[in-house]
Amino acid sequence: QAKAAGRNTHRLFDPAMQASVMARAALEGDLRRALVEKQFLLHYQAVVNDDSQLMGAEALLRWQHPERGLVPPGEFVALAEDTGLILPLGQWVLETACTQLAQWAGDASLRHLKMAVNVSARQFRHPDFVPGVLKILNTTGADPHRLKLEITESLLLEDVEDVIDKMRQLRARGITFSLDDFGTGYSSLSYLKRLPLDDVKIDQSFVRDVLNDPNDAAIARTIVALAGTLGLRVIAEGVETREHWEWLSRNGCHTHQGYYFGRPGPVGMIQEAIRNWTPPTRRAGNPGTG
Ligand code: C2E
Ligand code: MG
Ligand code: MG
Ligand code: MG
Repeated sequence: QAKAAGRNTHRLFDPAMQASVMARAALEGDLRRALVEKQFLLHYQAVVNDDSQLMGAEALLRWQHPERGLVPPGEFVALAEDTGLILPLGQWVLETACTQLAQWAGDASLRHLKMAVNVSARQFRHPDFVPGVLKILNTTGADPHRLKLEITESLLLEDVEDVIDKMRQLRARGITFSLDDFGTGYSSLSYLKRLPLDDVKIDQSFVRDVLNDPNDAAIARTIVALAGTLGLRVIAEGVETREHWEWLSRNGCHTHQGYYFGRPGPVGMIQEAIRNWTPPTRRAGNPGTG
């Protein structure tokens, strides 16, 4: 047994492992090239409040791969984090989103929008993160009060003091913060209380079955209650149906994002959606109750 295990650890040429190492190496090379050749783009998804107003948009990274087509971030962001490529990539995302934000400021129907940008833990931890963001705000002319950064609980695994300090520096300029994918990580509630957040986003994994799974419903209600206690707003992700929307607003969550309101799409799509926005109406007779 021990001998077999020992032998296993010396199998340098395990074909499956070698294939996966090579696939990663190939993807890493592709990613580096993609940065140089500017194959990335942002899609935007609407964020809607319970008065059915379009509040803003979340910028979502896409990779226009020459052979594979449009690649979602789930297939490359983790590797970009592991390799450090998330630093230049994250910078590009911020620059692009802030440039867009500055353009919206010149359009009466779009200037009220907030732009939410995802920031990975490795990017946030970099010592140049705060000056980097401030520089981008400067060069693009974007209004920091319209910029929201989405961070995740993974940031809270170490050096929370540094995280709080950076958040405070950025908040002093008007930038706001969301805690994304809330409930899927490991954050200690005592840290959560200390973070200068504006809102938490209920992860879509709890929203999906909220109408059928009592556990998910209990988690969603608990997140809403906890956020209320901490003075934070709640944004629900993955709102795919009218039933999701109604359940959530009945249970105290008043800001929503999901396919029911609009899929992520190119900038022209969200601009059109906002200009032609007609809010969905709830079924008669149940607003805010039951
Ligand atoms: P996220 O920040 O939680 O973004 C929400 C994800 O849910 C997006 O997936 C969005 O397309 C998807 N979504 C929105 N509405 C619905 C719905 O009604 N149903 C379902 N099933 N899904 C919905 P996407 O675009 O594939 O992004 C996945 C994750 O990749 C993001 O999760 C975020 O963690 C990460 N990501 C995206 N863009 C960036 C970026 O610029 N930088 C970094 N560091 N991470 C990013
Ligand atoms: Mg997000
Ligand atoms: Mg999320
Ligand atoms: Mg996510």
